[in-house]
Amino acid sequence: MGVDGVYARTALYAHVVERLESYITRQRDPTAEIMRFPPVMSRKQLEKSGYLKSFPNLLGCVCALHGSEASIRSAVDRYDNGGDWTSSVTSSDLVLSPAACYPVYPIVATRGQLPAGGLQFDIEADVFRHEPSRSLDRLQSFRMREFVRIGSPQVIVEFRESWMAKAPLLAADLSLPFTIDVANDPFFGRVGQVMAVSQRQQALKFELLIPYYPSAPPTACMSFNYHREYFGQVWSIHDDKGELAHTSCVAFGIDRLTVALFAIHGLDLEKWPAVTKAALGL
Ligand code: ATP
Ligand code: ZN
Ligand code: MG
Repeated sequence: MGVDGVYARTALYAHVVERLESYITRQRDPTAEIMRFPPVMSRKQLEKSGYLKSFPNLLGCVCALHGSEASIRSAVDRYDNGGDWTSSVTSSDLVLSPAACYPVYPIVATRGQLPAGGLQFDIEADVFRHEPSRSLDRLQSFRMREFVRIGSPQVIVEFRESWMAKAPLLAADLSLPFTIDVANDPFFGRVGQVMAVSQRQQALKFELLIPYYPSAPPTACMSFNYHREYFGQVWSIHDDKGELAHTSCVAFGIDRLTVALFAIHGLDLEKWPAVTKAALGL
């Protein structure tokens, strides 16, 4: 669409996305509460979530022309005269959501103490990350689906373990070659490197990686994240025993999975493996 990492979707692509989404829906826990978020979220909430400490380089902030009619007019006039209108914009209350799950924790916090057994969510948003690239697996605007679990540590560990066991079955259904490996988030700067090492040592993040063609460097298409009590602490979420809640999310990179399906099985859906067609209802 004229900018690296931003793409229009064709009907064929959108069809596979839709089939993949309904396949993922069938993997959902029946007790999960469904929430769909817009591509923007509260700037204050994301700041409070600590995003600026970890990934300030990836964040997109919504800016707008805020002034009087006269000052807005003069910015537009500047553009009409070949100048730059954007020097007049200032930040708004919104940022572009960099991951689907951030808005759910403050919502849960407003409900008070968690019920016994905790909560599960099925969440989705179109997210933004400022990482322009010409690679088909690194978009600036992409769709992220997440299953989020909030509860006591025991419940969270079980959730993540069950998903790590389930992930290979998903890859098999989709006939996608994969590996599962411990990973780290790309925390910003030199302090970030220390955070990344600690995240790996504690094995807080795993990824399901798929090579798009034989010998390609594998692309992370799903991630399994254990935040420990981080979001519980930030938002004061407590379990039914009054302890700080732990949280975990399983993230499906919808665009990365869809591109993987096309890269590996080709553009003709008729020729896709029978198990994949069956799983996706194609
Ligand atoms: P990577 O290391 O490849 O940048 P990540 O660790 O930043 O991935 P997460 O933060 O775990 O990824 O995001 C959840 C999922 O969203 C990833 O597993 C991936 O499938 C998808 N994803 C992340 N970044 C991008 C991107 N730039 N373009 C498309 N999909 C992405
Ligand atoms: Zn998440
Ligand atoms: Mg990344």
